[in-house]
Amino acid sequence: MHELAVTQSILDIALSEAEKANAKQITTIALVIGDFAGIVDDSVQFYFDFIKQDTLAQDATLSFRRIAARFRCRVCDTEFAPQDQDWSCPSCGAAAGEVIAGREFYIESIEIE
Ligand SMILES: [Zn+2]
Repeated sequence: MHELAVTQSILDIALSEAEKANAKQITTIALVIGDFAGIVDDSVQFYFDFIKQDTLAQDATLSFRRIAARFRCRVCDTEFAPQDQDWSCPSCGAAAGEVIAGREFYIESIEIE
């Protein structure tokens, strides 16, 4: 459910940027979402289509760029991509991975007209 709040804040940011730029409409909002951000694209899209009505973003489309999760082993410093259920280090086998990518969530760009 927290995607509604998240989506509202995306829309609020996009609208305030569009107003500052005297835009007539927002055409695209590009989002970056890490695999570990806990954000589901489909939910964001669903809420966005609902709350964008009667705003400058009513014809806007969302684009999503996913960032794959990456870990760094705290024991041997190897960087690796976690497999489905296996988050242990492929070099030394330690289960001591630190998340170094995948928690991203931000607006990459907003296109306006
Ligand atoms: Zn290791």
